[in-house]
Amino acid sequence: MSNSGMTFQLISEIRNQLRCLGARPAHEQRILRLWSQAKPQNSGSRPLESFMPAGLRQALPELSDKLANLLRLQSAHPAEDGSVRWLLALQDGQTVETVGLPRDGVCVSSQVGCAVGCVFCMTGKEGLIRQVGSAEMVAQVAFARLHRPVKKVVFMGMGEPAHNLDNVLEAIDLLGTVGNIAHKSLVFSTVGDARVFERLPLGLVKPALALSLHSTRADLRVQLLPRAPKMSPEELIEAAEIYAQQTGYPIQYQWTLLQGVNDTEEEIEGIVRLLKGKYALMNMIPYNAVDDLPFKRPSWERAAEIARTLHRRGILTKLRNSAGQDVEGGCGQLRARQIQAAAGESQLANAEKPIHFVKAKPATVL
Ligand code: SF4
Repeated sequence: MSNSGMTFQLISEIRNQLRCLGARPAHEQRILRLWSQAKPQNSGSRPLESFMPAGLRQALPELSDKLANLLRLQSAHPAEDGSVRWLLALQDGQTVETVGLPRDGVCVSSQVGCAVGCVFCMTGKEGLIRQVGSAEMVAQVAFARLHRPVKKVVFMGMGEPAHNLDNVLEAIDLLGTVGNIAHKSLVFSTVGDARVFERLPLGLVKPALALSLHSTRADLRVQLLPRAPKMSPEELIEAAEIYAQQTGYPIQYQWTLLQGVNDTEEEIEGIVRLLKGKYALMNMIPYNAVDDLPFKRPSWERAAEIARTLHRRGILTKLRNSAGQDVEGGCGQLRARQIQAAAGESQLANAEKPIHFVKAKPATVL
């Protein structure tokens, strides 16, 4: 059977194609394993003729091409900290950012754009353009593996994984089985969504959970993450704690430190109140300032002081820089630059409108 014309964005579509070509489960798993691990399809000592049906064998070169062409490199931006940002074009020309992280990690994008609209995020400014398919997510990992070892995959790139849950879980399932990534080294990062807390415990592969908290004040959190599901910080932490106890991995709370916004004494008290005694790790990441957004990065001294205070008061806290600080390190900046270059300044100026309320009413943010 010819496989010409086949296209796919989903792992389930690849599986269907393989079955149409006569693949049995073991063939299917082998092909997906080699692809996700960035190995050639003729790897191994046994000749393909000895175990693979002829139709499937003949289709393999075209299939390999299709898998390799799920995305192509648009630009690469290595940084001094050992990370590298790749701007990758999908088959329809849309672009996503993928980041090779220091210590064998890769950060994957789950959506083109994002509907949550976090006011400090370039990706949030453009809204949701389209979902990234599960195969396109695994393709980001396979691409990274062509360039460096990958032992950890974090779904912290462009997009909110909870808004593309079926695709993200399908990718996680593959990466945590034939993709050879340890379950606790797969990190599902979310602003928090009831569906996540329902679905993650049911999966065969249970990833670690990172929860973007950013504030312990419900009112401020709504302003910073305007279209996140309406769960209070207390409700989020309660649901996350149950998952931490189920899996045995701590919840990784994410906190982008914005000068004068969420680096206050009130927030330190709030974090201690909500996280004391929880199975949790607080990751504080000083904001990576960009010209197009009105937020400022607190000094490293202030950030270190907050981290020390939290530590002293019993909250395990790590102070981190976002990877690739020196190369458009914030989420969505590379893509925004590319769009800016393509479309001209006027289009970007229009895209800035949603954040103006923060400048106009600072008292409500502080
Ligand atoms: S920070 Fe994450 S969730 Fe918020 S808008 Fe950006 S991509 Fe979406």
